[in-house]
Amino acid sequence: MGTLTVRELEHRIRNAEREWPVGVDEKTGTENHISYLTTLYKLRYQHYPGGIVHGEATRQQSFDQIKEVFKSEPSMVQAVLEVMHHLTRNTGDTAPSFATMRATTTLGSAAPQDLIKATGSPLRRSADISINETVARPGPRSVVDSPFGVTAHEIMHWAYHNVLNDNERLYFWENVVLPKGKERMVREGQVSTRKSNIAASPNEYFANHAALYIEKNMPGALDKGWWRKVLAKTAGTEDEIAALVGLKQKMPVDGHIVKILQRTLPDEFKTKLLETSRASCSY
Ligand SMILES: [Zn+2]
Repeated sequence: MGTLTVRELEHRIRNAEREWPVGVDEKTGTENHISYLTTLYKLRYQHYPGGIVHGEATRQQSFDQIKEVFKSEPSMVQAVLEVMHHLTRNTGDTAPSFATMRATTTLGSAAPQDLIKATGSPLRRSADISINETVARPGPRSVVDSPFGVTAHEIMHWAYHNVLNDNERLYFWENVVLPKGKERMVREGQVSTRKSNIAASPNEYFANHAALYIEKNMPGALDKGWWRKVLAKTAGTEDEIAALVGLKQKMPVDGHIVKILQRTLPDEFKTKLLETSRASCSY
């Protein structure tokens, strides 16, 4: 492979992680893709046995930014903090930066600012995890989707690259991507009634199912009453909200994703998303 800088290696890994495998047939293509990923992981492990965490903030800075982003919805602050508190326990006090972004059709975005800066490219977002301002502060222009679910989705993109270990990432490729293939993953990865970018990358399947896992484990996250309250001023109707919550309640989380996440996230969260008490802020 010649000489690779760490930046090039990290970019190669990112690119390989988000591409659908191609080949004469999908199975062989995926097998080759997995051995390529294995080679890249081994290279990184040789030089950085502890792994590399990409995040612009310390934990405290990250948590303060979360409080700022979701300040109009205190229960969201608590719920997001609880998830992030667990995910950043072993990341060497490195955590993603959080910010809102101006309203566009993108509800949220996860992009490693340090890696993008290293290429000399202009930054398109202001933080590692950017949440559309209409999602962070629901109003008449919001689309119907769970603000918590959208946020959990972006957080789990970050967690895939920075919290999972190489064995867990390979486990995902070997047990989900290889046996299912793109067509089934696109079908089974759709966890919202909205149009989504599920076909863009195998990462979207991971982020969707991982976010669903979090929503199912966070008390109140799939409570229709809470949704109606939060989304009361949006363009959505009662029927749309009911359909979206109903779909998420019914849909099972991929068992392999559950297995991966049981190491990194507790089975139960203590925050209740449908309550707005500030009393238990401890992170
Ligand atoms: Zn995504």
